[in-house]
Amino acid sequence: MPELSNRLDFITESVIRKMTRVANKYGAINLSQGFPDWDPPTEITDALKEAAIHGPHQYEITWGSKEFREKLAEKQSKYMGFKINPEENIVVTCGSTEAMMAAMMSVCNKGDKVIVFSPFYENYGADAVLSGAEPIYVPLLPPKFNFDKEVLRKAFEQKPKALILCNPSNPVGKVFTKEELLYISELAIKYDAYVITDEVYEHIVYKPYEHIYIASLPGMLDRTISCSSLSKTYSITGWRLGYIIADKKIIDNCKKVHDFLTVGAAAPLQKAALAGLEFDEKYYDSLIELYTHKKQLFLNGLDEAGLKYFEPQGAYYVLVDISEFGEKDDCKFCEWLAKEIGVAAVPGSSFFKEDVNNYIRFHFAKKDETLIEAIKRLKKLRRN
Ligand code: GLN
Repeated sequence: MPELSNRLDFITESVIRKMTRVANKYGAINLSQGFPDWDPPTEITDALKEAAIHGPHQYEITWGSKEFREKLAEKQSKYMGFKINPEENIVVTCGSTEAMMAAMMSVCNKGDKVIVFSPFYENYGADAVLSGAEPIYVPLLPPKFNFDKEVLRKAFEQKPKALILCNPSNPVGKVFTKEELLYISELAIKYDAYVITDEVYEHIVYKPYEHIYIASLPGMLDRTISCSSLSKTYSITGWRLGYIIADKKIIDNCKKVHDFLTVGAAAPLQKAALAGLEFDEKYYDSLIELYTHKKQLFLNGLDEAGLKYFEPQGAYYVLVDISEFGEKDDCKFCEWLAKEIGVAAVPGSSFFKEDVNNYIRFHFAKKDETLIEAIKRLKKLRRN
């Protein structure tokens, strides 16, 4: 048979998704792939019932239904702090995964360099490969996961086309400070690069930390491609509703990529999700309250189990240091953890470019009883 495409030679299967299968195989509590185990708000599920009966069931405008873009523009303008035109500045995508891929394909030519902070959410590696770009990795240095300013400046000296910014960050839970974002902006402007963001955890930020949209900083509006999704904000990860917000010229390119990749996000789901976009501030406050509670519950449990971790400032992940257990292979450790302890985590090495094997990632977007049971099991770790 003819040779298959070599485009995928450098892409491995998603370790996050694989760990869900490992969890299922051993019947372990799945704290690997990050998604909640509760239902979305009833306003949204009621709207979905309505959409099932009354539609729409046919194609929407490829870059998103008019009313979805209008509501999204209204909500995001309020939170992002600048005016978003629903006709010119938005493409609705199938999740942020498509948003980021479309963004990369819209700005990168073969051989272009793209800065990626490491550890990073594993999709960015595949995004780079499939869009022909070459990543330059800049480490976020443990234990606080800050970057070295000089190293970042040197990366920009290589004239990258873009920097990818996951903020709040997955897997670390870091929320970039204003000072860090201003420094990144200064370099992006000086070296004329785009910033492509992944801001899917924009509404999950723990006090006193605050989410700052880099697009809102001076000089950044035209060169930031803001990607996000409704998955985490409204607990609808399976709906695959995401979006890109950017300057019209960039969006025109993204519209083309998106059109030929997927034609469009699911029409009835766009309709039903309007109910979420209409929520007032109280909803977003209660979301933070909910996740602050989950975080505290889980971190208290990790303390009781004697485990060391980086306290997340945002998102719903926690990186736990497993050095003391003496297992040099974090993948083996996670397989063992799922099988023998009954809790699934993601091996940290799948997020690091560097040879780092002493972290595993848990997520805590789970019902209290699920987290309590997971903690009970994790306490056995030290007895093994
Ligand atoms: N973002 C989630 C995680 O990091 C889910 C990833 C996925 O499988 N799409 O676990």
